[in-house]
Amino acid sequence: MDTLKGHMLLDWLRTPEADPPKVAGLWGEVAHRVKRVQILKDRQIEQEQARLAQFLSAIDASPNGVMMLDEGEQITWISSNAALHFGLDPKRDLMQRVTNLVRQPAFVRYLAAGEYGEAVKCAKAGGNGGHLLIQVQRYGDGNQKVVISQDITERERADTMRRDFVANVSHEIRTPLTVLSGFIETMGALPLTEVERKRVIELMSQQAERMQTLVADLLILAQIEGSPMPPPDRWVRADRLMQRIESDARGLSRERHPMQFTLDEQGQHGEIAGVESEWLSAMGNLVSNAIRYTPEGGHIHVRWVNLPDGGGEFSVKDGGIGIAQEHIPRLTERFYRVDGSRSRETGGTGLGLSIVKHVVQRHGGELRISSEPGKGSTFTLTVPAARVRLSA
Ligand code: ADP
Repeated sequence: MDTLKGHMLLDWLRTPEADPPKVAGLWGEVAHRVKRVQILKDRQIEQEQARLAQFLSAIDASPNGVMMLDEGEQITWISSNAALHFGLDPKRDLMQRVTNLVRQPAFVRYLAAGEYGEAVKCAKAGGNGGHLLIQVQRYGDGNQKVVISQDITERERADTMRRDFVANVSHEIRTPLTVLSGFIETMGALPLTEVERKRVIELMSQQAERMQTLVADLLILAQIEGSPMPPPDRWVRADRLMQRIESDARGLSRERHPMQFTLDEQGQHGEIAGVESEWLSAMGNLVSNAIRYTPEGGHIHVRWVNLPDGGGEFSVKDGGIGIAQEHIPRLTERFYRVDGSRSRETGGTGLGLSIVKHVVQRHGGELRISSEPGKGSTFTLTVPAARVRLSA
């Protein structure tokens, strides 16, 4: 009898997925105990698997890419970001030799050299100019490797922008400085008549003024970039902004341009949320551009309207020289000018429209530009409904 039970138990142990045999006595006890050990083990394995899955999903969430290689440099695991960085498929490419799939010479050489003290820079998959910084670490018994990749495309772009910006600023300052020091030398070296002396001083003060304007614009940009987002509940009256802008504009134009300033019935009660000095700077820049790029006699029309959707629109329309279509998308880049000498002659810094764009974006609005060479331009700032209201 016992032999039969023993056999039943043995049969079950050979296919343990099945239920244990229902036998009484000692063999029954053994079957019960074995089943319990089995359940405990299964539970432990499940827990371990869940922990591993959690661990891997934490690594997967890292902005860096992580790829694990076995001793034969075959991919044993790859995070989603690493797959993106190297252009791999996290499932299909498992157990493939990494250098069969990632063929970038810099990476292949680095991996083969076995010297992983420093990271190596490689092109990012996709071929649109992006770069990765790749670092390999050995782990386990020293033959397995983990490849960590970091996307440095944005950092490089920011570095280039910063370098270009510093180069541009230096150039903009160097030119008037060279002129100024030339005049200083002239004044020291040559006996000048009173008329000549006056003329030289006038030219010197023009150059000094140019530098001052540039530094002032740079400071505005730095201040805007470094300050918190404009408050959504500090209200500025549209009519007050218009008054300030009108008086500055008339001073600048000195009656050379017929000007019209319009605030419709609703606009009289319009209010805009945000930072008053920033709005003044943005709107003022558009008006001063209209004046500077419109020959004497050309019309300028400045308007604020409250829109039916609850938002608002500030626009400056001029009858000036206009802008060719191909320049329009680049106008808000720092120091971008269609005609450098005209911009400088009229006291331009090349920073005005980048200030305008920054201010508008910070307030959730938009800058629209339409223009036709020889006919004139319209610059429009739209302000979203959340930042416009009608005063009581
Ligand atoms: P700037 O100080 O040179 O005027 P901005 O950033 O204000 O710099 O403008 C960039 C360029 O856009 C100007 O150099 C000029 O070529 C062009 N521009 C801006 N506003 C106008 C306008 N109203 N009419 C024609 N061209 C304009």
